[in-house]
Amino acid sequence: MSERANDVVVVGSRCAGAATAMLLARRGLRVTVVERTRTPADTLSTHGIARGGVVQLARWGLLDAVLASGAPPIRQVVFNVDGDETVRTIRDHAGVDHLIAPRRYLLDEILAGAAREAGATIRTGVTATEALRGGDGRVAGVRTSGGDIPARLTVGADGVRSRIANLVGSEIVESFPADAATFYVYVAALENRGFEYHVGRGAFAGVFPTHDGESCVWVCGPTSIAPQATTGFADLLAQVSPSLAARVRQGHVTSRVRGAARLPNHRRRATGPGWALVGDAGYHRDPITGHGMTDAFRDAELLARNLDNLPEYERLRDAAAAEVFAITRDMTRFPEPARFTELQRRLGRVLDEEATMLAALPQKEALPQGELV
Ligand SMILES: Cc1cc2nc3c(=O)[nH]c(=O)nc-3n(C[C@H](O)[C@H](O)[C@H](O)COP(=O)(O)OP(=O)(O)OC[C@H]3O[C@@H](n4cnc5c(N)ncnc54)[C@H](O)[C@@H]3O)c2cc1C
Repeated sequence: MSERANDVVVVGSRCAGAATAMLLARRGLRVTVVERTRTPADTLSTHGIARGGVVQLARWGLLDAVLASGAPPIRQVVFNVDGDETVRTIRDHAGVDHLIAPRRYLLDEILAGAAREAGATIRTGVTATEALRGGDGRVAGVRTSGGDIPARLTVGADGVRSRIANLVGSEIVESFPADAATFYVYVAALENRGFEYHVGRGAFAGVFPTHDGESCVWVCGPTSIAPQATTGFADLLAQVSPSLAARVRQGHVTSRVRGAARLPNHRRRATGPGWALVGDAGYHRDPITGHGMTDAFRDAELLARNLDNLPEYERLRDAAAAEVFAITRDMTRFPEPARFTELQRRLGRVLDEEATMLAALPQKEALPQGELV
């Protein structure tokens, strides 16, 4: 291996890639990240971060920066089930007493900044196109639009349609189809009541207060909602929650409607000779459970801790992801409100357990200095 070779090349610099690069660079590894987008830039996503994700940001010393960027701390959750409302204060659990819903162009940039500060090189506007392979067929880095980047480990953090997953031949080991879609807008001058979840018949809506006094208002439903979501968002919302729709109509919608339908639900092999996948690249579930960013943060942590034992990373990831994957499948069937609420409660318990697990991880663990994989 040449002296200038990287220990790790990471493809993708958002929640999964930037967090992975930060953790590995903090442990003294030579890390290069390539990101095809010129960042900072927004991406297709709403903003609710589960408790485990907030725990991770706090453990990594980044939560204060996210709050300082203007993401309002969320201290209560409103549940509205078919018109019946319950308001709960967010408990102090796993060292966290509030949630957040930051805009992605700010959150992802804070993570990327922390990776740079730790010593990682981030090259934006550079696209990975091929996997480099050693004589033994082992993945040995990536070919990019900016030249070859050899590395001992190649990490695919390139999102749901991961090119790296395809190039390394990562097979899908579990999947289910879901007839589901999510659409959202930003609304100014909407009273901030915390995170709001509105369960209607056959659809689900909610509010995540975010930066600049705006709220991200979203609707999840079967793919048949797509035409109305784009032409009559407030009318669609009224079918799920008349009270929320009325508030949105009094506010001021500041964006076009964005969203996605029929997203894949699958888990891929996460590791192989010379490669690993983190975040959406390796495991994707419909956004109805609002867990993608937390998955990405958890994967980054588990991979960084198991660089010398990649199968163990994969085992831990699979075990950690299983319950939310199953709940996502059941929620995307949009059962009647009582059953849907039961699933929400189960999700809440799983998210609390996940936060407890992440909060209990020791802050620093000796990095294996020998072979990476
Ligand atoms: C409508 C919607 C709503 C959502 N709402 C929530 C929510 O409320 N809460 C939540 O936690 N999650 C939510 N998610 C999921 C969340 O957005 C994702 O799980 C999260 O972004 C995954 O992060 P990632 O880093 O794995 O991938 P991504 O964020 O997709 O980042 C991948 C990066 O890789 C780059 N890239 C891709 N290919 C290449 C290449 N060949 N070379 C170089 N760079 C490349 C891309 O430009 C991109 O920047 C939502 C998703 C959607 C679609």
